[in-house]
Amino acid sequence: MPQPNVNEWRGEVRQWLATTLEPRRAAETTAHTAAELAVFHNLTDEEERRLLDRRRAYERARHDAGYQALTLPTENGGQGLTAAHAALFAQEEAEFDVPPSTELISVTVRLVAMSVSLFGTPEQRETYARAFLRTDLLACQLFSEPGAGSDLAALRTRARREGEEWVIDGQKVWTSGAQFAEYGLLLARTDPNVVKQAGITAFLVPMDSPGVEIRPIRQMSGGASFNEVFLSGVRVPDGLRIGRPGQGWEVANATLAFERTASGSGNRRKGGTFDDVLALARSLNRTGDPLVRQRLADLYVRSALRAATVDRVARASAAGGRPGPEASLTKLMASDLLTRTGQAAAELMGARITADTGEPGTFAWTEHLLGAPGYRLAGGTDQIQRNLIGERVLKLPGEPRVDKVPFSELSGN
Ligand SMILES: Cc1cc2nc3c(=O)[nH]c(=O)nc-3n(C[C@H](O)[C@H](O)[C@H](O)COP(=O)(O)OP(=O)(O)OC[C@H]3O[C@@H](n4cnc5c(N)ncnc54)[C@H](O)[C@@H]3O)c2cc1C
Repeated sequence: MPQPNVNEWRGEVRQWLATTLEPRRAAETTAHTAAELAVFHNLTDEEERRLLDRRRAYERARHDAGYQALTLPTENGGQGLTAAHAALFAQEEAEFDVPPSTELISVTVRLVAMSVSLFGTPEQRETYARAFLRTDLLACQLFSEPGAGSDLAALRTRARREGEEWVIDGQKVWTSGAQFAEYGLLLARTDPNVVKQAGITAFLVPMDSPGVEIRPIRQMSGGASFNEVFLSGVRVPDGLRIGRPGQGWEVANATLAFERTASGSGNRRKGGTFDDVLALARSLNRTGDPLVRQRLADLYVRSALRAATVDRVARASAAGGRPGPEASLTKLMASDLLTRTGQAAAELMGARITADTGEPGTFAWTEHLLGAPGYRLAGGTDQIQRNLIGERVLKLPGEPRVDKVPFSELSGN
């Protein structure tokens, strides 16, 4: 398909954004509320639903205008454009006041929709991937388990086939947004008699199925954005299997690579940014302090380097291709920057960050500081990203693997 000229396309995008959204307010003029600075929301269910509805209206408008899933091939329901188009859209969009997003929106549109588009049947693409891309349906990611986080392939949730159905038993944990999701992309063990990666299958599970129990987990930053999910005798039709039986590890790896790209690219504005820290330093009259200036310069350089790396990685990946291990670089830089942003704000404020005096933009930072470390874990921890970079980007020798035997022969199974 011929690609639209980038400059003409930029003009169209700008025009569409201008008719859809208000221009972004400068950081200096924003009142820093906890909701704006927090990395994870601390909202009531009703407030969370209102936030989701506002964002879903934008996602639908974006989808219907032809700006969703830009690099996904057209036969998979995307726009078939280049990574340069996607980077340009993100650049233009950043100039506007985009409704705040949540983990669940990002998981639905940028992870689950993409994987269902790539691995689903044409019917699954039409019914589910399209609905996820438009956020008509929301989907969470049912991967991690109490004994399977970094070592995800050790998962123990089982699915056994009964005629045209699968019966699922097990437990998932840290499932972001499960309480608001209509579906979950679940990994389950369907064959324990092969090596652990080979015996996994992916399913879309309706979250209102009998046997699904969702228990929110309260986080140290205040909110309860993720959950434990218990599955007891949950029946799922074979038509909701995504990919072939045993192809689940491939689905998981593609989904995780999309997740690293989504976390690393920073399209969803999570908590405070360099501009917010600069605005804070100005409001506290601290920009003349040489140590503060050094800290601000360091943050600025790291923000610029992250943006440049995101751009480089995006351009390097072919249009429509799955993100490669390079996505680990941007994920690592983004989680590091988020942590440093909170630390810089804490240094500027000292003890004031812990006491709610009602002063705008001070105590609000506490939710950023307590939430930021979560992104060093979500989507694969910093250490796992370093392993991936070492092994798959730098081609260093791999970690010793002692588990290349059938899953059922590993101790405890
Ligand atoms: C905010 C947030 C949202 C999340 N959302 C979801 C979600 O929606 N769906 C979902 O399925 N999961 C989700 N998770 C779970 C996340 O994927 C896991 O927390 C993560 O993969 C780490 O697994 P774990 O917590 O079991 O830690 P563990 O795997 O037990 O790791 C413990 C420590 O050991 C280190 N470690 C482990 N193995 C190695 C190794 N081989 N080399 C070096 N160091 C190692 C880790 O880096 C870590 O520091 C979320 C987590 C967070 C924090």
